Amino acid sequence: MAQIINGKETSKKIREQIRLETEKMQKETGIRPGLAVILVGDDPASAIYVRNKKKACDEVGFLSKEFVLPATAKEEDLLALIDQLNADPEIHGILVQLPVPKHMDAKKVIARIDPKKDVDAFSFENVGRIVTGDFDFVPCTPAGIMELLAEYRISPEGKRAVVIGRSNIVGKPMALLLLHQNATVTVCHSRTENLAEICREADILVAAVGKAKFVTEDMVKEGAVVIDVGMNRDENGLCGDVDFAAVEKKASYITPVPGGVGPMTITLLMKNTLTSAQKAGKGE
Ligand code: NAP
Repeated sequence: MAQIINGKETSKKIREQIRLETEKMQKETGIRPGLAVILVGDDPASAIYVRNKKKACDEVGFLSKEFVLPATAKEEDLLALIDQLNADPEIHGILVQLPVPKHMDAKKVIARIDPKKDVDAFSFENVGRIVTGDFDFVPCTPAGIMELLAEYRISPEGKRAVVIGRSNIVGKPMALLLLHQNATVTVCHSRTENLAEICREADILVAAVGKAKFVTEDMVKEGAVVIDVGMNRDENGLCGDVDFAAVEKKASYITPVPGGVGPMTITLLMKNTLTSAQKAGKGE
């Protein structure tokens, strides 16, 4: 039976460290980390994410500013707001909640954020830095997974890691982070042949597919570490990409859904914002 990797507990612990560091920094330098979140339109799921980010900011003592633009807003209005926040010394992190409405060019919008304030690490500059290993920020979900591995003393060094999914926000940065920690990494996707066979070679298996219970027991090696990024809905509510009940019996460690990777994502956003504020304090 696998040991459960508890993302809720780990997240709580890291948030407390961030709160203490924030308090100390504010006392010593007068700088309070500030995060600006921009929401365009009225997508209910996005509105919940934005609300949760504000709650997390309050919890760790950050300043948070929220901007809601109507779905009909012009791209230039959004770009002007980003310019204003780029110049705002109280703001160390800027996040545009994706997706933006179809009439806007998401790439252009992200590229407008000052890379020093791009705490989602989606900009071309930050992606390049992740590739070369010279980075301050990493997309929050893969960064959260690396924190979970560290918390449970699971070293990727020398291990075979398989990542299912090659999205820019999860799969690709995940593979790079595992590579930087000296895992031997394979990235799988919808055109991969012999997927189950490749997955069975994994010491660390990361599922970022977006399909409920996609990873079945026969795809998992005995004793593997299984990380489930998926957030899907089935007849019982929220579920991951892994058939948890069956895989749990075979894995050595496993993340549940909910309570695994999910809670870490916003926590890492807080961590990236703190890093940005610390760097700003040093004039970097
Ligand atoms: P995405 O952009 O839709 O990417 C899904 C990936 O899965 C793609 O690379 C796709 O391959 C691959 N895939 C689809 N069907 C496959 C198949 N039959 N065999 C092998 N690979 C297949 O999704 P995402 O944004 O990376 O998110 C993945 C999941 O993680 C979703 O459930 C999402 O809700 C969740 N998520 C959770 C968090 C969190 O905080 N917990 C954060 C972000 C995302 P192709 O590239 O070939 O199409």
